[in-house]
Amino acid sequence: MTRVEISGITKSYQPGVPVLKPLNLSVKPGELFFLLGPSGCGKSTLLRILAGLVEPDSGSIRFNDVEITKLPPEKRRAAMVFQNYALWPHLSVYENVAFGLRVSGEKKSEIDREVKAALELVHMSEYASRRIPSLSGGQQQRVALARALAVKPALLLLDEPLSNLDARLRDTMRREIRRICVERKLTAIYVTHDRQEALSMADRLAVMDQGVICQIDTPEKAYNAPTDKFVASFLGDANFIEGELKPDGVWQTALGNLSCDGMTGKLAGKLVAMIRPERIRIGVESKMNAVNAVLTNRSFTGESCEWEFEASGRKLVVVESAPPERKIGETYLLYLPPEALIVLQ
Ligand code: ADP
Ligand code: MG
Repeated sequence: MTRVEISGITKSYQPGVPVLKPLNLSVKPGELFFLLGPSGCGKSTLLRILAGLVEPDSGSIRFNDVEITKLPPEKRRAAMVFQNYALWPHLSVYENVAFGLRVSGEKKSEIDREVKAALELVHMSEYASRRIPSLSGGQQQRVALARALAVKPALLLLDEPLSNLDARLRDTMRREIRRICVERKLTAIYVTHDRQEALSMADRLAVMDQGVICQIDTPEKAYNAPTDKFVASFLGDANFIEGELKPDGVWQTALGNLSCDGMTGKLAGKLVAMIRPERIRIGVESKMNAVNAVLTNRSFTGESCEWEFEASGRKLVVVESAPPERKIGETYLLYLPPEALIVLQ
């Protein structure tokens, strides 16, 4: 299993336009690690630097304490899976998977064993002799995955591998990829802009914005306790509440005086917190953190209902599963638990 250490990596394609600002990251052996961020934030650039396809301007990369920054791609044992599969259309499934092994001069019997094992792992054994154009998108992506796995990579790199698949297939493949990484004890770095994908699959994730890593955490921690506004909104719906923390410890907001767990020990001044819509409780009485709000809108999604409220001119979104009947225009009491209000930087 491979530990990956990224230290001070920077990259600009054009002078004065940094795509990666000094970036540090350490991925644990056997971890399924996600780089999550909007399009253009530099995720693929970082992945390509790890694969040796793009040269960084500065910084270093180590696999298990061995510096590989200057090594050519074929010496790194990092296998990459791309969004568009990048398979050879004129070769059979078997030959596509065997390709990397043939290039590195493996024995025929060894190649056969590895190809069969890789095809079995992705449930494509019975398609070995098929041509690529006769396969569906999902099957092609399985072959691309098998090809990457066949070379027994030290590091598996996946760049938006499921973006071209429909929603149902994406769901299945998420579970499959996770199963394979765990079964093979692979260290994998997976790039996506899809928060559901990252939250549901990752052991840990790094949220990126404009060439900078904003937060590295487990999915649960990053979702429940984001450190800044960008991470909070990128990972899900969030209500932001701004206010002034007074020297006596009172947090004055447009919704009234509120209390949140993270404000103790903070200096007086501007204080912004966020609360997830599903953490606000409707109709719960409390001496503190209770806000009167008018219900203005409703949207039912099946598994839950999203309510929009207005309180002192501010919008508050609340999500409830199995919601009771509620009337637009009526006033409700909303309870914002102090532990669910997360202070942002
Ligand atoms: P992401 O994968 O997060 O969408 P990329 O790493 O592909 O982001 O791109 C980051 C930025 O670098 C974008 O502004 C993109 O236009 C630019 N970029 C990527 N590759 C090149 C290249 N080969 N030449 C010039 N600019 C590039
Ligand atoms: Mg990309």
